[in-house]
Amino acid sequence: MYSLMEKLFPICRSITGNGVRKTLKIINNEIPLKIYEIPTGTQVYDWKIPKEWNIKDAYVKNSKGKKIIDFKVSNLHILNYSIPVKRSICLSELKKYLHTLPKQPESIPYLTTYYKENWGFCISQKQYDELKEDTYEVFIDSSLTFGSLTYGEFFLKGTSNEEVLFSCYVCHPSMCNDNLSGVVLLTQLAKILQKRKTKYSYRFLFIPETIGAISWLYKNEKSIKKIKHGLIVTCVGDSGNFTYKKTRKGDSSIDNIVIKVLEESKKAYQTVDFFPSGSDERQFSSPGFDLPIGSLMRTMYAKFPEYHTSKDDLNFVNSKNLEESLEKYLKIIEILETDVKYISTNQKCEPQLGNRGLYDMIGGKQAEGINKMAVFWLLNLSDGNHSIRDIMKKSNIDQNTLNKSAEILIKFKLLKRIL
Ligand code: ZN
Repeated sequence: MYSLMEKLFPICRSITGNGVRKTLKIINNEIPLKIYEIPTGTQVYDWKIPKEWNIKDAYVKNSKGKKIIDFKVSNLHILNYSIPVKRSICLSELKKYLHTLPKQPESIPYLTTYYKENWGFCISQKQYDELKEDTYEVFIDSSLTFGSLTYGEFFLKGTSNEEVLFSCYVCHPSMCNDNLSGVVLLTQLAKILQKRKTKYSYRFLFIPETIGAISWLYKNEKSIKKIKHGLIVTCVGDSGNFTYKKTRKGDSSIDNIVIKVLEESKKAYQTVDFFPSGSDERQFSSPGFDLPIGSLMRTMYAKFPEYHTSKDDLNFVNSKNLEESLEKYLKIIEILETDVKYISTNQKCEPQLGNRGLYDMIGGKQAEGINKMAVFWLLNLSDGNHSIRDIMKKSNIDQNTLNKSAEILIKFKLLKRIL
């Protein structure tokens, strides 16, 4: 994962353009991605695919011809999505287009201007303070053209049509924890699962944040119901403890599973209730979709000082942390894969148990293994959305009792196994 990250790190990515294509091409060497292009101007719900942005070079030169800000040294120097510029300006004019982080004087901030035509450079406060009166030559060799938005998808068919969705974003330039850590973990996860036979089908998305998620949802609205669980993968390479941001409902199966895995690790972790900002869970959890998608991170975005700065680099993450995060994701999958789901053959009102001789069995003289409340819980929660694990949690009845009761209900054709 770390060596893949080293390959991806230098690429200048954005929400559109060749940086994303190059990134997806490299991932495609690891797993067979299907690549989609959505043309500029396409309406996706309330949004429009913007013009495609590409950049070859950008710098600010002083009057002696020395490049004092150079995109080729760090792609964070350019305000992402800057329009092309070529002009000579004085220091006070230049300063209007410079962005710094005064509280972190050594770091270059990461800033974007996707939806407003503008230009600018990002530099450290330290460098800003050293700038002298001079005539500067500003050059930005970028283009904003009618092109497309690119994203990649990898689908792994399981025995069931029910899907687990993993999504990461591929739009940040050279930053490791916020962005690339998710990309490399997801690639590795897909590589591992590719070699296994699975019950669930797994879908892996490599999309530009926000507009990519909106575009994907727009294109896939009809099949969205197949998604039963999901996680947004980001910020999984730093040394911090795990943070789990819950789904919008807050008690979905995936919430319980992730919390179980974190609990079992016997290490400190924290959970955060859903809030409608952050990453693409915002789109997947918009009310019209309300998908059960959480996000398992280490230190959450915006909670570490290196976030969205040049300090979120290859030194801020390491293989050990990535490996530990991957293990958590694999454990979550293991639980999902060993879970069982039934559907009750009577979805409208309870079946009449007396007719079938079942009421006696669960009534006064309880037959071995069958339990009245287990039967009622199984019949009620086997609605296609609850697994045995979920029923266990809600009913507080042990798995053995539920299993035995389920076996009998299957014999009486009142339950059918669907997963
Ligand atoms: Zn970010």
